[in-house]
Amino acid sequence: MHFATFYQVFLPLFSAFCYNDVMKKNDLIELTIDDLGTDGQGIGHAEGLAVFVGGALPGETVRAKVIALKKNYAVGKLDEVLAPSPMRACPPCRVFGKCGGCTLQHLSYAAQLQFKQSHVQGCIQRIGKLEIPVNFPLPARHEYRYRNKAAFPVRQNGGQVDIGFYAAHSHRIVDVDDCKIEPSGLKIVMSQLRVWIVKNGVPVYDEATHTGLLRHIVLRENKAGEIMLVLCINGEDIPNRSHLIMLFEFVLPQVKSIILNCNTRQTNAILGGRSICIYGKDHLFETLGGLEFKIGPQTFLQVNSSQTEALYNTLFRMLALTPADTVLDLYCGAGTISLAAARRAKRVVGIEIVEEAVEDARFNAKLNGIETAEFFAGDTAALLPAVLGREAVTAVIADPPRKGLDESVVRTLASSGVPKIGYVSCNPSTLARDLALFTELGYRADVVQPVDMFPQTTHVECVTVLSRTCA
Ligand code: SAH
Repeated sequence: MHFATFYQVFLPLFSAFCYNDVMKKNDLIELTIDDLGTDGQGIGHAEGLAVFVGGALPGETVRAKVIALKKNYAVGKLDEVLAPSPMRACPPCRVFGKCGGCTLQHLSYAAQLQFKQSHVQGCIQRIGKLEIPVNFPLPARHEYRYRNKAAFPVRQNGGQVDIGFYAAHSHRIVDVDDCKIEPSGLKIVMSQLRVWIVKNGVPVYDEATHTGLLRHIVLRENKAGEIMLVLCINGEDIPNRSHLIMLFEFVLPQVKSIILNCNTRQTNAILGGRSICIYGKDHLFETLGGLEFKIGPQTFLQVNSSQTEALYNTLFRMLALTPADTVLDLYCGAGTISLAAARRAKRVVGIEIVEEAVEDARFNAKLNGIETAEFFAGDTAALLPAVLGREAVTAVIADPPRKGLDESVVRTLASSGVPKIGYVSCNPSTLARDLALFTELGYRADVVQPVDMFPQTTHVECVTVLSRTCA
């Protein structure tokens, strides 16, 4: 064996194995951070091992305490930033670093966007083995206070009730009184709720024993500032309804709807099947791109309303829909994309697996006077061949969940020869995988456009359009 090969192959392995003797748990080490991991942790290298340090940023020199030592990597707890990055920002949230929600508040917004661009580019190259350029992400209009929905788990913690978010990779709750990415109107709703819980000794749910009542609090706020409050309970009713209603009726008129959602199953799912409206209406309305949508407790809606409009506009611009197009909208939810597309095309057919969402989509079509959209409930993979056989589809839109498209869906679409496919993805890894298969089957994407729907987090939405390379 050539000496250089021996040196390149065996020495790093050797040093990795020996490293446990050099670096020990609880050691304080100094290192330079050169990258950000997918969860937003800083990554540096020491003695041939990658060291993940939450809260550290590329370009920084930090001191970290080694808290886990594995064969191929180590985890460090940030002790001190010795030389800060010019991209470092001051996180406004009191529980930053404890709550598992926003992991990028310590990074300037411009640098967050750069990180997302290079993360998407990395997935396209590494997973898809493709050289598709990735544009700079479309920035969000609001860096904070952008969400229209919050779901807070509730747990007893000794003498106090914790309402907040899970710590990273855990079911331990970090109590949060003001989440900076939620609308500020929700803060006062939460403080009223705490009054009702304490005054009435509301029993709080215990995951381990499946006892207690109040499991989650879900809040939704539309652009007009109207609020829906959903109490997810392990039971059928709550103590002292009238006190709860009084706390909102006279003090917070923006709360238009209070709903009990009964979830008595032992499950991680937040919402159960049955909802009882105990105050006001059982729904709100939201306006997106000039269309009205009915929002119930179960309705899926993108969580960043103003950026959803930017996302859809980007999709339609890239897809260049015309009044001659027949559009198939896969994974259509409550029909938000479908109905916006219907205003630009001749006809739209939507497919969605959740029956209630399909009912919402049909309701929303009527609400907006749209007669050229039709919706079907079922699994995309199962319904797709028949729909493609029946309709002269000229454009497809696919907005699948994080796991991306089933291989059979990609193959069916490709063999149908549909001229253009707009792909909206919330997971760059599965997007890259699916683009690779489309490319193999005779389609090409010229560019990927990330759209930042989730500032302060590592999540990123992407839009791309595939067109056929052969006739
Ligand atoms: N396009 C919508 C919703 C996208 S979220 C919007 O922009 O609001 C993804 C949707 O895919 C969810 O509504 C989910 O219920 C649906 N879904 C998940 N698996 C599915 C499947 N196998 N077939 C059809 N729809 C599915």
